[in-house]
Amino acid sequence: MNNLDKLISQCPCPVKMDAPGLFCFGYLKRGLTPQCPTSVVVSDQLTTNYAKFSTLAHELAHAKCWLAGCKCMSNPNHTNREYHAFKSQLERCMGYKRALRFTVTHINRISSTAFIRDMPQYKGHYTACKRLKRTKLWRQALALI
Ligand SMILES: [Zn+2]
Ligand SMILES: [Zn+2]
Repeated sequence: MNNLDKLISQCPCPVKMDAPGLFCFGYLKRGLTPQCPTSVVVSDQLTTNYAKFSTLAHELAHAKCWLAGCKCMSNPNHTNREYHAFKSQLERCMGYKRALRFTVTHINRISSTAFIRDMPQYKGHYTACKRLKRTKLWRQALALI
């Protein structure tokens, strides 16, 4: 089983890969099936397994927070839920170099001044990535790529 299939099998809710026409990379959706209140959807705009892996790792973390009733999900400020998701995404990519490189590039982009200038509505993502870049985990990730 490859890394991506392994991650899909670990997801606690339905996963829909290659969803057409999404502008975002991936997102947590409520109720793709009646059996589970949570689903993860990953866009077909991601063409490589490592990009799909990285994105799924992020959305999977949101799904786990949601299903576990984590406090971050009820907080209207999105910084904590994004911090949980980006941290888990980075951790899961530590053993998969191409996915780790993709994730580090993604986090660098989201924590840039250009990103927050163009996408002020994503302030929670921006702040979470800034916070993550001050951790030991981030330095360990940079040493691996
Ligand atoms: Zn959480
Ligand atoms: Zn997120």
